[in-house]
Amino acid sequence: MTTVFLKKGRDHSVRNRHPWIFSGAIDRVEGEAAPGATALVRDASGEALGLGSISPSSQIRVRMWTFDPDAKVDEAFFAEAVSRALAAREGLRRSGATSALRVVNAEADHLPGVTVDRYGDWYVGQFTTAGAEAWKSRLASILQQYWPAKGFFERSDADSRRFEGLDAATGPLYGEEPPEFVEIAENGCRYLVDVRRGHKTGFYLDQRDNRADVASRSAGRSVLNVFCYTGGFGVAALKAGAKSVANIDISAQALGLARRNFALNGGGDGAAEFIEGNAFEVLRKFRDSRRAFDLVVLDPPKFADGKGRVMGALRGYKDLNLLAMKLLNPGGLLATFSCSGLVSPEMFRKVVGEAAIDAKRDFHVVRRYGQSPDHPESVFFPEGLYLKGLLLRANP
Ligand code: SAH
Repeated sequence: MTTVFLKKGRDHSVRNRHPWIFSGAIDRVEGEAAPGATALVRDASGEALGLGSISPSSQIRVRMWTFDPDAKVDEAFFAEAVSRALAAREGLRRSGATSALRVVNAEADHLPGVTVDRYGDWYVGQFTTAGAEAWKSRLASILQQYWPAKGFFERSDADSRRFEGLDAATGPLYGEEPPEFVEIAENGCRYLVDVRRGHKTGFYLDQRDNRADVASRSAGRSVLNVFCYTGGFGVAALKAGAKSVANIDISAQALGLARRNFALNGGGDGAAEFIEGNAFEVLRKFRDSRRAFDLVVLDPPKFADGKGRVMGALRGYKDLNLLAMKLLNPGGLLATFSCSGLVSPEMFRKVVGEAAIDAKRDFHVVRRYGQSPDHPESVFFPEGLYLKGLLLRANP
């Protein structure tokens, strides 16, 4: 079997069950190192530490499948991993709260590179590493055995495939092709999901619980939904009795679907407004024209997609939160999020505090937000926590 020997003193992170091995920690590879091949990982003294898949062209050279060196990485191994992932979501599946959920959350479910979401009768999956690529068809058929679907649609078009030397791959892996829009139900709201062209696999399932929480505070309030995508928070807020919802997004395509989603939920009666534009500019205009809201949601895209971008991202978060804070009526609420994994919850809280100083307003942190439970975070893999948010109340 292909064997990866680590450099002396570089076995610490594997022993702590971190699933990534960087190229700099590797002394040598013995045997064939084909993309996605399973390799035995040994420390410098030869002690076996586990099995992982090789990505010859990536800085992250090995991703661990298991820390049991005696395990066999075969079909039965993946069947076991899939059945554990499904069991962990049994409660959510049975709760009836949603017909769309994340079924496999990569590292947190011990399947690095494998992300699978279920939208109604369809699976939509993303395979981002050489190891995941090698096993994708078998993984898809295992899922089909455990929880049958009409089809599995692949959306392996994430940029990160580049680092693995993999081209984008999209299309059906098996079964029927999904319709142009798959309708899902989430906490009493209906949403159309564009699984072919939408972001990620089509919908931000990680915000499910946060959408429900924001909705529960929306009755009678004027809501501003910034970075609305296909309506998410806004639809839920209006359904829960918001007085009005103004939605901002830079993407005409996303806004088009947002309009349809509002209509689908009976929200086409003038209470909803759709503004296409750059959120920073639109918020500045609102500030200058003294428009104010009772509840603002800020759910921007990832600002930091590399270590070198963190400072710039923090400036972006500060500007954005400062602008939003200025638009809040006394007693108003701000639900503010960051999905940049490189920005920690502490950093985010600090930057939001700095924005409050510049806004010259006092806020209470009413609640902290994370990602929905079908996007679990492993204690061994802190990188898996990327979404965090704060609910702030503007004290009068
Ligand atoms: N809250 C949404 C998800 C937001 S995703 C939900 O619950 O579904 C982030 C969105 O920000 C995307 O729709 C993207 O089109 C939009 N976006 C990115 N940059 C933007 C900008 N500068 N101004 C306005 N919208 C932007």
